[in-house]
Amino acid sequence: MLRCGLIWSILLVLATTAVAQDSGWKAGFARVVITPEQPMWMSGYGGRTHASEGKVHDLYARAAALQDASGKRVVMVSLDLVGVPKVMSERVSAAAKAKHKLERADLMFCCSHTHCGPALDQSLTHMLDMKDEDWQQVMANQKWLDARVTEAIDTAMADLKPARLATGIGNCGFASNRRAPIGTGPIDHEVPVLRVLSADGTQVRGVIFGYACHNTVLGFYQWCGDYAGFAQLYLEERHPGATALFFSGCGADQNPLPRRKVELAEQYGRMLALSVDKVLATEMSPVSGAVTTRFREIPLEFNTIPSRDELLKTAESADRYQRTRAKLFLKDIDAGKPLTPTYPYPVQVWRLGNVNWVALGGEVVVDYSLRLKQELGAGKTWVTGYANDVMAYIPSERVLTEGGYEGDTSMIVYMQPSKWKAGLEDQIVKTVQELAKP
Ligand SMILES: [Zn+2]
Repeated sequence: MLRCGLIWSILLVLATTAVAQDSGWKAGFARVVITPEQPMWMSGYGGRTHASEGKVHDLYARAAALQDASGKRVVMVSLDLVGVPKVMSERVSAAAKAKHKLERADLMFCCSHTHCGPALDQSLTHMLDMKDEDWQQVMANQKWLDARVTEAIDTAMADLKPARLATGIGNCGFASNRRAPIGTGPIDHEVPVLRVLSADGTQVRGVIFGYACHNTVLGFYQWCGDYAGFAQLYLEERHPGATALFFSGCGADQNPLPRRKVELAEQYGRMLALSVDKVLATEMSPVSGAVTTRFREIPLEFNTIPSRDELLKTAESADRYQRTRAKLFLKDIDAGKPLTPTYPYPVQVWRLGNVNWVALGGEVVVDYSLRLKQELGAGKTWVTGYANDVMAYIPSERVLTEGGYEGDTSMIVYMQPSKWKAGLEDQIVKTVQELAKP
């Protein structure tokens, strides 16, 4: 009798555990190489003078498809690229809607902001001193990239299988605030982690993780995912069969310091991968409930719009970037496309279990993640920058007032008409608050 009772107790515990772990989630993953097949111009630094020369490792588009118990599906895409061109996220979203009925809000396009990836079809590319045939190559490569990203989404959707999801937060210390005086400003060293295990819990199938720091260890002529590229590869090596997807946090004013050596990119990648592994080894919070998605474009205002006369003057400037921007605007105006006083800025919020996952466009400074974590709840708020469209830097009110590169002058290389108008921080945060409401 006693033994029988014991067996029943064990069976009951096992059954309860099985029920508790079967939350109805499914997950699928994909990894597709996006290293350009020919040498071509690289993006991130305007001072480069010629095309790429070989690679440190391959660049990838990775996709994670998640499906909750109700059948709602979402796909997060992680790209070893300097940005996410708006044209790219729109074209790939249209294909995903036609094939998989995924709405725009159900897709999150993230990038590492590596400065050793290819030039893209976006405004930042205008800072490169390229010839017409180089531009044609960039445009052709963009079409190829769009197709590769679509392929990654299709493959991840086809891979959907029962899975166990859990979240946790780690810590990694190599990011420094890069605004003067260097190393003294605010930082965000948190490493949010989503772990996806096989249904039986024996295999790590995927890991999504983020960090708020520029991928600017390297700025040479070889393809490389920088520290994030190394971190993803280390995690995939350590967990055979798993796909590791990185997203950039609000690291626009954060640099990995010191830098400029491949060994340093490897070292920071190892540090970040170890932080993620440490979280994977702890007791993580299982994701229960559903996934909800919201996406909105809000009109962010520019401070001033230059007149045609001002542009004609600037078109003669000794500064190459100023000159290029003025000529670009004049060309648009003459083609009947006047400068617009606002930019459609993308704000997205996914609710995943008890986590609010905020994805903001542009190069977002760290003040945003610190404020949003405070307002939406520490430990359950993730903030991704560089998401869905990377059109400019997004300074906080503090950084906008202080000025400098992130607050003002970077708008020139991004080919935007002026700095942002005061008030953008509250406008963005208010939108996030609205989208995060249950
Ligand atoms: Zn940047």
